[in-house]
Amino acid sequence: MSKHIPISFEFFPPKTDVGAEKLKVVHQQLQLLQPEFFSITYGAGGSTRERTLAAIEEFNGKGAPVAPHLSCIGDDKARIAELLDLYKSQGINRIVALRGDLPSGQVGLGELPYAQDLVRFIREHAGDHFQIEVAAYPEMHPQADSFDQDIQRFIEKVQAGANAAITQFFFNPDAYFYFIDRLQKAGITIPVAPGIMPITNASNLIRFADGTGAEIPRWIRKQLAAYGDDSKSIQAFGHEVVLKLCERLIAGGAPSLHFYSMNHTEPTRQLVVDLGLA
Ligand code: FAD
Repeated sequence: MSKHIPISFEFFPPKTDVGAEKLKVVHQQLQLLQPEFFSITYGAGGSTRERTLAAIEEFNGKGAPVAPHLSCIGDDKARIAELLDLYKSQGINRIVALRGDLPSGQVGLGELPYAQDLVRFIREHAGDHFQIEVAAYPEMHPQADSFDQDIQRFIEKVQAGANAAITQFFFNPDAYFYFIDRLQKAGITIPVAPGIMPITNASNLIRFADGTGAEIPRWIRKQLAAYGDDSKSIQAFGHEVVLKLCERLIAGGAPSLHFYSMNHTEPTRQLVVDLGLA
C-alpha cells in the first residue's frame, strides 16, 4: 500500500441536463473517497462561464470544497473581478488560475495575456483570500520555445503569487521528477500535484495528448493499438499502467494526486481504492 496523500478530482461543466444529472451522481460517488477538493474547468474567453458557474453552485457546500478554474486569455479584468467577487461571496477560497487557449476564430489576447498576469491580478484584487493553483508542464508547454524558458515562466507565476500547481497529464514519471528537481534547484518549493489521466479509450487518449502536447510513450501506444476494439483489455492495461505511475509518483514524493475524472466515477475510483488513498 502507498503512503497516504491527498487527492482531488477535476470535472468539466456538463453541456446538457442529462450530463448535469449524471455528474451529481459521480460527485456523490467520488465524494465518498474524501478528496481535498473538486475543481471545475472554465472555457477560455468565458465560453463556459454560465455552465461553470452552475456546476460550482451545484457542488459548493456539498462535501469537499470546490475550486473553480479561471482563465484569462481573451477576457477582461472587469469580468474576472466580478467572478472573483462572486466566488468570495460564496465562501470559495481556492482558484485554479490559467491562461487558457482561445477558441478557434477568436482573436485578441485581452488585458491579461498570460497566467502570471492573472495570478498577479487575483492578488491585487483579492489579496490573500484565494489559494491559487497554476498549471505546470513536466513535458514542457507546447508553445514554449525551450524547457528552460518554460521553467522560468513557471517560476514567474509562483513569484506573482501562486501557492501550488497541478501538472498536465503525463505517463513518464521521470519527466515529473526532473521538473521538480529543476524547481528545487531554483528555490521553488510549492507543492506540485501530478495530474493523472486514467486510460479508458485509446482514441480519446491520443486526441487529448495531441491537443495538450502530452507524450504517450511508444510502448503504451503500441499496446493500445494491439488491443484494437477490445475495450476490456484496454481498460485492464490502462488501469495497470496508471496505477504503477501513481505508485512511483507517491514513492518519489508527490505531495498529492489530481485526477482528470472526465466526469466519470470509474476508473478514477478504482485507482484511488487500489492505491489505498480512499
Ligand atoms: P501560461 O502559464 O501563461 O503559459 C502559456 C505559454 O506562454 C507557455 O508556453 C509559457 O512558457 C508562455 N509564457 C508564459 N508567460 C509568458 C510571458 N510573460 N511572455 C511570453 N511567454 C510566456 N484551459 C482552459 O481553457 N480551461 C481550463 O479550465 C483549463 N484547466 C487546466 C488545468 C490544468 C491542471 C492544466 C495543466 C491545464 C488546463 N487548461 C485549461 C489548459 C491551459 O489553459 C493551456 O495549457 C494553456 O495553453 C496554457 O495555460 P497556462 O495557464 O499554463 O499558461
